[in-house]
Amino acid sequence: MTNLGTVDHCKAMYTLFCKLPPFDKIEMPKPSEIKWIVSEDRDEILGEYIPEPHTITVSLARQAHFENICKTILHEMVHMYLYLDGKSNYDRHDKTFKKWTAKIASLYGFDPKEL
Ligand SMILES: [Zn+2]
Repeated sequence: MTNLGTVDHCKAMYTLFCKLPPFDKIEMPKPSEIKWIVSEDRDEILGEYIPEPHTITVSLARQAHFENICKTILHEMVHMYLYLDGKSNYDRHDKTFKKWTAKIASLYGFDPKEL
């Protein structure tokens, strides 16, 4: 039985999002420059971004479907973008973060609260 949650699938989704707004206007790291971790057992998180080196964790414990993985990757991409933009609060879900997730939610038709 195949599923959608492999590192290669995450990289493919990331590659797509880098070509779509708003990330198409931003120089994002290549998928190969990111350490990807797909976790089956980290029930407490959906995803996580850690810089230096760029690391994106996608937890599949509560989600293994396209829409959920997309939302998690987009969420972590906002953290990564804020980090690259020099924001010291890149890991917070503050006003700046929410401005970006609101923009993405409206573009992609997602509920901003789920991003
Ligand atoms: Zn977050």
